[in-house]
Parts: sequence; C-alpha cells; structure tokens
Amino acid sequence: MKIIKIIFTALMVFTFSFFCEASEKSHPLYSLEITFDVENNLLKGIARITFPEGLTTPVSVGNLSLISIEMNEKPIPLPSKEKIQAQGTLVISYEVRFKQSKMENTLHNPGVVTKNIISKQGICLTKTWYPALDIPAQYHLRALVPENFTALSEADTITEQKVRAGIEYTFDFPYLRDSVTFIASKYDVSKEMFNNIEVFAYFFPEDTSLAKTYIDHSKKYLAMYQEMFGPYPYKRFSVVENFLPTGYSLPTFTLLGKTVVRLPFITTTSLGHEILHQWFGNYVYTDYENGNWNEGLTSYLADHLYDEKKGDGRKHRKKLLLDYQNYVNTHNEIPLDTFQQRTDSATRSIGYGKGAFFFHMLKNQVGEEIFYKALRILIEENKFTRTSWDDIFKSFESASNTDLEWFFDQWLSRKGLPQIEVTAPQVLMLGENYTVSFRAVQHGPVYKLPLPVRITTDKKDITKTLTLEKKCQYFEFTVPKKPLQMIIDENYDIFRKLSDDECPPVISGLLGDPQRRVVFSESQKEKAKDVISFLETRGFTPVNEKDIKDSDIASSSLLLLDSKGAVYSRLFGRAETSPDTEVSLKTYTNPLNNSKVITVLSGNSEQNLKDIVKKMFHYGKYSHLRFQDKKNVFKETAASSNGMKISLHTPVVGIRPEKTISLETIIENIKKTPVIYVGEKHTFYEDHKVQLDVIRRLHEENPNLAIGMEMFTQSKQQALDDYLSGKTNEEEFLKSSDYFKDWKFNYHLYREILYFAKEKQIPVIALNLKRELIKKVARNGLDNLTADEKKKIPEDMDMSDNEYRKRLQKTFSHHDKARGIKFENFYQSQILWDETMAHSIDRFLGQNPEHQMVVIAGAGHIAYGSGIPKRTYRLNGKEYVTLLNAKAGGSQKGFC
Ligand SMILES: [Zn+2]
Repeated sequence: MKIIKIIFTALMVFTFSFFCEASEKSHPLYSLEITFDVENNLLKGIARITFPEGLTTPVSVGNLSLISIEMNEKPIPLPSKEKIQAQGTLVISYEVRFKQSKMENTLHNPGVVTKNIISKQGICLTKTWYPALDIPAQYHLRALVPENFTALSEADTITEQKVRAGIEYTFDFPYLRDSVTFIASKYDVSKEMFNNIEVFAYFFPEDTSLAKTYIDHSKKYLAMYQEMFGPYPYKRFSVVENFLPTGYSLPTFTLLGKTVVRLPFITTTSLGHEILHQWFGNYVYTDYENGNWNEGLTSYLADHLYDEKKGDGRKHRKKLLLDYQNYVNTHNEIPLDTFQQRTDSATRSIGYGKGAFFFHMLKNQVGEEIFYKALRILIEENKFTRTSWDDIFKSFESASNTDLEWFFDQWLSRKGLPQIEVTAPQVLMLGENYTVSFRAVQHGPVYKLPLPVRITTDKKDITKTLTLEKKCQYFEFTVPKKPLQMIIDENYDIFRKLSDDECPPVISGLLGDPQRRVVFSESQKEKAKDVISFLETRGFTPVNEKDIKDSDIASSSLLLLDSKGAVYSRLFGRAETSPDTEVSLKTYTNPLNNSKVITVLSGNSEQNLKDIVKKMFHYGKYSHLRFQDKKNVFKETAASSNGMKISLHTPVVGIRPEKTISLETIIENIKKTPVIYVGEKHTFYEDHKVQLDVIRRLHEENPNLAIGMEMFTQSKQQALDDYLSGKTNEEEFLKSSDYFKDWKFNYHLYREILYFAKEKQIPVIALNLKRELIKKVARNGLDNLTADEKKKIPEDMDMSDNEYRKRLQKTFSHHDKARGIKFENFYQSQILWDETMAHSIDRFLGQNPEHQMVVIAGAGHIAYGSGIPKRTYRLNGKEYVTLLNAKAGGSQKGFC
C-alpha cells in the first residue's frame, strides 16, 4: 500500500503542457493520466479533455467511480447520469476496479472478450475504462505501471522512464482516434527494423521462442500490403501476446491471445488479417453506425486471398456460403449494411462471410485493376476518418466511372441471398448445331447477376456468362458439339443459396439449426446427463428417443447420443460400427428432410463425450471427426458437387449388354447367387414368362429353391402353405389368400409360377405388408400408426438413399400430389413397403440358410437395387443379382 501512495503523488505532479494548441483545433484534445494498484485491481485516472470553441459533446462515464470534476477550472457537482454535457475544459478524476473474473465462455464467439482486467498477471483495458467521447479526438496517454511490467498503447513513439514508483510511459499518437487501448504485462520484447518500420514482438517469457517467426511473418505481410495499398501508416508495429483470448487489431499493434499465438497456423492466417486491419479499420476508420465494412474487406484480402493463392479460392467461398446457409436464418438475418460486429456465428457469416463475398463480386464486376485503384482512392480520401459504405461506394464509382448503385443496393440493403432454380433444360439438334435452352427462376427478390455457365460436350467444354436479371428468364444458345451437362457457378463467384447437391452434411448444419435436438435413450438419461444439460445451454432441445415423432425428426437437425439406438436404426437401418478411436462424430443428411442433418456421436466413456461435445463447436465445416486422447486425429468433409449441375442428356441406365445374353448364360452366371430378383411390370405376361423360366432352370440346378412374392401379404402365408401342400384347392386358396382383394391383377399372370411351385414343392414366401397399412402411412406418415400397428413394422429402416428418394419424387409428382398426399409421407410408405419385403426375405433365409431365393416383385422395387435388394443385403450380407426385362427398366447386377 505504501508504494501506491507514492504513485498517486507522482501522478499529481504531471504537467499538462500538451494542451497549448487546443483552442485552434476542431476536435477535442484528450490527456489521460493513469496509475494502478494491481493488488487491488484498481485504476486511478485523471482525464483532461479540451473541447474547441463551439463544440459540445457528451462524455460517457459508464460505471467509473467519479472522484471530482472541474469544468473550466471550477468544480462542478458529480452527475447523476452516465453522461456529462461538457464544453471548454473538463477535468475528471476517477477510479475503477477491474477484477479477474471467471473466463467468459467463448464458444459462441471465439476471439472476442469484452472484459477489462487489472491483475498481478497483467493489465488489459479495451472497453470503457476512461470517460469516453463519441467523436474522434487526439489522445495523449501517460501511464505509471509497476516496475516488472512493460506497457503498450496505440503510439508512433513510446517513451519510458524509470521513476521511484515504477515505470512511467508516454504514448504519442499524433492522429485522431476513436478510442484508446492499454496493455501491460511481464513481457520480453524483441525488435527488428523493416524499411523504416520498427517491428516488435511482446511475448511472455515462456513464448519468446515464437517471437522470431512472428516478426518474420509480420515483415512479409507489411511488404505485401505496402505493395498493394501504399506505405504502412505508422512508425512501429507490434505483435502483442495477451493473457486474455483476444484477436484484436489496434492502430500500431495486434493483440493475440496466449492460446492463439501458440497455434501453428496463426502466422499464415490471422496475423496477416490483423496486419491488413492496420490499413482498413486502423487507418481508414470504421463508421460503425453506418455499417462495418472493414471485416468483409479484410477477410477478403487476407483469409480469402491466402486460400486463393494456394488454389483454394473456390473451396473458401463455398465454405462461406455453407456457413451462411447453416448459421443464418430468418430470425437472425440482417442486411450487410447493418452489421456492426460479430457476436455469434450468424453475425460472423454476415459481416465477414457475405462481406468478403461482396468484395469478391465487386472485383469481378469492375475488374481487378479498378478494384485496387478504388481501394487506394478510399485510403487516400478517408485516412483517420470514420468511413462508411457510402464512402466505399463513392471510391468505386469514381474509380470505375460506372453506375454501381444497383450493385451496392442489392447486396447491402437486402437481407438474404439469391435462390436460383433451373427448370426445363432442353437440347435440340438443329442442322449441325445443338441449341441448349432453359429457364432460370429466382425465388424471392430478384437480383441482377452474371451467371457463369460451363457446358461439357463430347469434345471441348464451352464457358459463358449469362446476365440474369428477371424473376423468370429464358436462355437459349447454340453449341457446336453435343452438350452433356451444364454447370452453373461452379467456382462459387456468386453469393447464392446452394442447391441440396452442393451441401455436404456438416456439423454447422446441426449447430446453426434453430430446431436442434439432442436425442438420448432411456439408459443415457442418467449416464449422459452432463452432456445433455451442456447442450441445453447451447440451444439444443433434449428429447427421449421413445418420445420423438417422425414429424420432429423431419423438422429438426438431431444429435444422436446413441448410434445403436432406435432412432438411428429407424433412419439408417443399421447399427453404426463402433469407432476405433475414443470418440467419433459423423454427420449425415437427414433422410426425412434433406435440408437438415443428423449427427451421430459415439464414444467409449461419458467423460470423453463431454469433452468432445464442447470441442465440436470449432469443427463446423466437417462431416466426420475422430478423437483420441481428446485430440482430433481425423477430419473429413463429405463430398458434394461443385456448382449447380444440370444433365443435358439422358444417361444410359444400368449395363447395356454388348449382345443379347441367352437365358442359359444368365443361369450359368447366377446359379450360385443366394438371392435373385426378377422384376416385372405387373401386367406384362412376358415378364412373368421370364420369371418362370428362371425358376425352372434354377430349380434344376438347385432343388433348395424358394420363391418370394410381393403379391401376397405376410398374414396370408398359411393360405399359401395350405394350397402348396394340397390341403386346399385353387379356388379355396384364392379366397383364403384374399388374392383378388389384396393384389387384383389377373391371376393367370402368376398361375403357372404357383402351379410349378406346387408341383415341385418349392416354398413360396409371402413378402408384402397389408395394403391398408401402406396406404395409411402414405396419407399421414409413420407417426400416425397405432402402437399395435407399429409392432408389425420393421424397427430398422434405411431412409437415407437419396438417389432413390429423387426417383420416387419423380413418380410422386405425377400421381399423388393431386390427391393431397405429401411427398414425405409417400416416401415413408414406399420405404416401409420395401423394408417389410426385405425383412420377410431375410427372415426366411435366416431360418433356411441353405436355400436360394427367387424374388418376384414390381420393377420399381428392384431397379438400381434401391427398393428391396440393397435392404436385404444390409440385413444379411448375401450376394444378389437383379434381372429386369428391358421394357421394365434394363438389366442390372449389384454387389456381385
Ligand atoms: Zn478482422
């Protein structure tokens, strides 16, 4: 305490010589004298503010404890409000205490800390620590710090002097500033000269080995940006390590958190970003009230530029679009020109992501040369000035000499992004040439966009840029070669909504979904309660898997805590294989709603799960992660297509044999295959003829044959058995099996097959589910089945075959929409149908492993293997072949 008294005495004798010119200036002059009692987390300060004649502006004192105030050398009463209306010269004595509080959780917004701290470890003052002005002023800071501290603030020159009470620092920054930052701690300081700039590293003793790398990289970035934007504006630049987890850039220095500086990639990413802020943000200041443009611009010319130089520009931009899609929604969306600072992933996706994209599109619009020319004009005309989007607009209009109002208007003042859909693509062959035509439809507000298009042909690719500016626009052009595919915006040059095929399922889809749920099983309720309650604080709604409905799954993104649980097997039809590492996180497209995701968390202990769940917030761009000893050992983003791809030719389906293969050859090839699917168009007699031929020939090879038939429901198995064993005659059988009620097609189509089975005593297995149940699901979805009905359906179903979903979507739009059936329910009914049949086959072959089975079903349940075959394979792993009559959709072979 003795020392502290001496400090205050020393402070009182500071002189105010700095103010001699005040009255001639048009802005306030602000002298701030501070001193510290670090043991008690205390700052004492004297602020002397001189306003030029005629200027009056409020001074905010926030939570500072005021000791005394003098206006024009006369004491005035302490104000009751947070603001003082001042003119002339104002002297405020104050003190304030900033304790080391529990570290803020930065998961929401890593890199942003809003606390001031005064402690024995160090001092970090970034927010409201002195009486603040809301207009720029010229500051002069003098600080007395304990002897073992090194202090830093915005300054072109810093002088330090050892006095009895510690070290007295004076910071000279001869330009206007919006605010002042003050840092002091136990630093080792290194310095190198670069041209005429002093480059410093202020690192803690344990990290001094990093200083050299940081200085070297700083020199590299200074050189690079001087080349682009002209001389570095200040005489010194410092990289300063902070004991708080910050990533700030202030004029003349950057403040990087201790954990941040130790990350190996910072020197090649964030450091350059912070250095570029020396031009944008710390030289050309930001007029926050009229929008923060500097984060978008800096992200574009630092983070994006570094990736582009590595050849990853497209990847970078696609990630920005994906983040925007996953984190920004109608509740949290704001126009770019109202962004001020990031507070979470959504504001980051807007201010940094959409902001960077804005400048990318602007560069493409005006050309690279004019783009950089405009930025140099901006710097020249706006240095040390609060600068708005409007000023950027003026610089670009003046540099380009073109009308850019429409461009700034559509990208800055609107929420959202363009949604483009291509419809009715067509190719016509006229004479020698091909004419490609399509309609581009913009859902939502209409944007004017240059649409980059590439057409792949059987020879050379053709590229074009079309101008899209209408709600629905027809395009037509001629290409000399046969067009195969059209790809729109494959390099991601346009800020637009991605199509489903372009979106890989990634963790950010889960984290950014306003409807995110964590699903647990009964046994995990207690075991995983810490994980669940943590996730609740992160906006997840917990739900027990026994209570979740399909409509909940379809309307949300899920984190499943159990890869062997009921929800997982209902959606993916299998149990996830146990990870070979402690924890694994896998994200899939939600089978019930392709715009949402399902993340499966599996791990070997609750403690491990808890640790990794906290970490997943940093891995938003990945689909699959594995952790061992709490460290990430594997990360991968699922593949997705680049650009909107539109097929311009009908692909050849399946395998087209070189010559017609004889039945003999086919039988020879498949006689040992356990499951043989022979598809049919129900009414085609020739299909049934082929089915019988295949059964006949296979039976000659292997008497252990069985026939599975879609035409009979499982509950009618007894009726089939009775007929085949001779207990009933044909007439009785047709009645007891409800054939005419359940199946309806002409019995003669199947009669020969059943007759042959009876003659040779081949078991026939009824595969199908009750038609009423399928219809009920098609009308109202699986949720609507009664508990009793649910017992009759398979527990595990694979709903994740996206190609099958797309094919069903095509059939659906033709038939069922008109009847008021929703596609989601129709899809579920089809899967239920297929799964039931697959389970019936699996049940029989499980009980009769020596048997081979011929499955007779509609071609739609067999084509591409999607309906029944892959599902049976999932259940029993037995090889299969599919045979389809050419008219029924080609012939296919799978998993052989
Ligand atoms: Zn930044």
